[in-house]
Amino acid sequence: MRRIPNLADIAGLALLYLGGVAFSCLLCRADGGVAMVWVPGSVLAAWLYTAGRERWMAGLIACALANELGAGLFGLGWTAGIGLSLANMIEAAAAAVMARHTLRTHWPHATFEIASGFLLGAALVIPAGSALIAACTVHWVVGGAFVPTFRDWMLGHAVGLTALLPFAVTAAIRLDRQTRAAAQRRRAADQRTASHRPIASTLMVLTMALLTACVFLQDLRWPLVAPLLFALFAAVWADVLIATAMPMLVALIAAPLTMAGLGPIAPALIQSADRLQLGLLYAGVIACCTLPVVVEQARRRQQIAMLSRSAAHFQAMSQRADTLIDELRQAALTDPLTLLPNRRAFFERLTAQAQSGERACLAMIDIDHFKRVNDRFGHAAGDAVLRHFADVARASFRSGDMVGRIGGEEFAVVLRGVDLDQACKICQRLVDKLCDTDIATPAGTVRVTISTGVATIGSDGDAAMAAADSAMYEAKRGGRSRLSSVA
Ligand code: GH3
Ligand code: MG
Ligand code: MG
Repeated sequence: MRRIPNLADIAGLALLYLGGVAFSCLLCRADGGVAMVWVPGSVLAAWLYTAGRERWMAGLIACALANELGAGLFGLGWTAGIGLSLANMIEAAAAAVMARHTLRTHWPHATFEIASGFLLGAALVIPAGSALIAACTVHWVVGGAFVPTFRDWMLGHAVGLTALLPFAVTAAIRLDRQTRAAAQRRRAADQRTASHRPIASTLMVLTMALLTACVFLQDLRWPLVAPLLFALFAAVWADVLIATAMPMLVALIAAPLTMAGLGPIAPALIQSADRLQLGLLYAGVIACCTLPVVVEQARRRQQIAMLSRSAAHFQAMSQRADTLIDELRQAALTDPLTLLPNRRAFFERLTAQAQSGERACLAMIDIDHFKRVNDRFGHAAGDAVLRHFADVARASFRSGDMVGRIGGEEFAVVLRGVDLDQACKICQRLVDKLCDTDIATPAGTVRVTISTGVATIGSDGDAAMAAADSAMYEAKRGGRSRLSSVA
């Protein structure tokens, strides 16, 4: 949906811009030249950065008028104001376009190269362009010297863009997200990250302001390193908004104090413009040192968050894989029709039993004439008989014993802790139970008999299997529905 320019929004922007122009012109016009601490340009560039293109014209016209008003009332006059407004509008639009292209999809997770490219544009290319228009205007309209005007403008605006724009862009994105995505759930998460450690962040801002003020209200030079170190610490530790605010704070405190002749770098210079330049340079150096650290740190945090997300994902996947492997292993060892252990599982158990040396017996059980059941009643009825046999067998043996289905209608049982006689008695009970039972199947009731061979399990599982098998075939030969055993 096309956004209609919001008049209150534009008016608010123009007022803010006028306030910035007044602040810069009243406090930072060294020796009657151009204002050297340039705040409003970054605010406008940040607004353009987040505003839709259809609002740009309204924002730029409103700020140009505010600029003209500010220059007329507090600066170099109404006529010069026209050229200076033009330079400022071109500068803000160029900075917004550059920020959109370099920071749009990445900020603050930009790479070191993107941060360096941004600094190059903000500190050199864009201010040089606007300084050219401004210096020509000042030279032709008020007869000011071209070179000092160019130099003062460029430095003031370069520091303005490098020290203020990253903070202004961060703040604008946060504000924009907060108003636009009020209904979106995602916002809650964004805000949580934006406002993390609020007390510590406020303390950091106050500490930086106090530290810079203390350093620039005394004459020793070595404490100059303190704000730089603190800004670097903030770049590593603090939220991006707080980290990008640090160079801006330094610029806003150090530059006016130095211009007023206070602090360690002021006394060496007589001209207030030179003093202001040095103060700005100091803030600019802090901005250039900290910005790459800020973006690198933001990118690192993003990567760590991604890593921990993928670690959690990997852990969930690995748990799922473990469950699947367990299910597959279980399926590979289970007969799907009767849910009894299959041939493989049974042989593993038989081998373990033989190796344990514990007294035990093995029974082989085969349903008699099972083919006839299938032929007469159908395959489904045959399946029902097999399931019934499994249920009865499961219930007939102790929990330590194991029944398995080792072939079509062939089953085997490991009976632990019993001798051959006891095993035969237990198996005979199963034979009796089965022979007396009518088995309900889809095709009607069915009766079956079984032939059983029983053998003792020695140290060789295969040998026990062969012995029980031959005993079972002996039972078959003997007329079926009977039990035969071998020691
Ligand atoms: P015997 O008394 O000599 O053991 O004769 P039998 O008919 O029981 O033995 P045979 O080996 O000739 O036939 C076994 C039959 O068991 C053949 C096969 O179709 C059937 N069978 C094997 N597995 C299944 C199954 O899962 N379901 C059903 N319904 N039948 C099966
Ligand atoms: Mg059979
Ligand atoms: Mg058989």
